[in-house]
Amino acid sequence: MIVAIANNKGGVAKTTIAVHFATWLARQGKKVLLVDLDTQGSVARFLGLPPADELAELFLAVLNLSPARRPPFRSFLTGVPEYQDLVVIRGWGRSADLEAMLATNAARAGGIQTVAGIAADVLRAAIAPVVNVAEVVIDTGPYAGTLQQAALLIADHVFVPGVPEPATDAGVLDIARRLREVNRGITGLIPTKIVNCHIHGATIASWQRALPNIVYYDPPHRMPGLPRRVIWGEIVGYGRPIWNITPKEWSVRRAVKEAATEMEAVVRRMAYDAEIGSN
Ligand code: ADP
Ligand code: MG
Repeated sequence: MIVAIANNKGGVAKTTIAVHFATWLARQGKKVLLVDLDTQGSVARFLGLPPADELAELFLAVLNLSPARRPPFRSFLTGVPEYQDLVVIRGWGRSADLEAMLATNAARAGGIQTVAGIAADVLRAAIAPVVNVAEVVIDTGPYAGTLQQAALLIADHVFVPGVPEPATDAGVLDIARRLREVNRGITGLIPTKIVNCHIHGATIASWQRALPNIVYYDPPHRMPGLPRRVIWGEIVGYGRPIWNITPKEWSVRRAVKEAATEMEAVVRRMAYDAEIGSN
C-alpha cells in the first residue's frame, strides 16, 4: 500500500504520525519505505539521522537518466538503526528545487500533462522498485505544492492529521477537494493536539458535516486521536520514536506511557483503515 500523510498546515503532527506509523509497521514485521517530501529534513531528525537530499537526487536520476543508467535504487535509501525492515528516502532543502524543475519539464512536454501529473509519474517511477514488496509511507510538507499533489495522486490512502481549530480548516477541506477531483477521498482524519474545549469539539463536528464519509479518529468514534501532550516535544528532541524510549529514560513516565498508548491506538487503526493486514 502507498499511504500519504498530508495537511497544508504545518505543526499538525504529520511527521510525528508518519514516523510512528512507519516504525510501528516495521515492528509488526512489515517491510516499510518512508519517504520524506518535506524540505526541512524533519523525518531524518526524528529518526536521529543526518539530513540528506536523497529525494532530490532520486528525482533527478529518474528525470534525467534512463533506468539502466541510474545508480542502484538502494543508493538513495538509508537504513534506520533498530529497524531492520525500515528504509528511508530522506528529504531536505534541495527538494524545493524540484517544483521548478518539474514545471520546466511540464513546459517542455508542451502542456499535455500537468506539472502534478509529471511529478506523480516521477514519484511512482521512483518508488517502483519496492512498491510490491514494501508498505510505502509518504510524509509531506506543510504546503499544497507539486510534491504534495503527486503524493495525493499516487497514494492508495490519505490520512490528514489536523489540530481541530479554524486555522486548519482550509488545509483539510482543500485536500478533500483535490482528492474528490480524481474521484477519491481522505481515508481518515486524525485530530491532533486536542484538548477538551469548545473550539476543538465544534471544529471536529464541522469537519464531520463537511466530510461525512471518512473515518474520524475522535472520541465519539471511540478513538482518542492524539491529545495535546507536552511530552511530544521532548520525544522529538530525543530523535527517535516513542517505542524506542526505554523506561529508564522516561523523564515524565506517565505522560510517555499515555502518549505511547494513544499513538499505538492511532497507528493500529491506520493500518486497519489502510487495508494493511497482519501477517
Ligand atoms: P508537522 O509534520 O505537521 O509539521 P510535527 O509532527 O513535526 O508536525 O509536529 C510539530 C510539533 O508538534 C513537534 O514539536 C511535535 O513534537 C509536536 N506534537 C506532535 N503531536 C503532539 C501532541 N499530540 N501534543 C503535543 N505536541 C505534539
Ligand atoms: Mg513535518
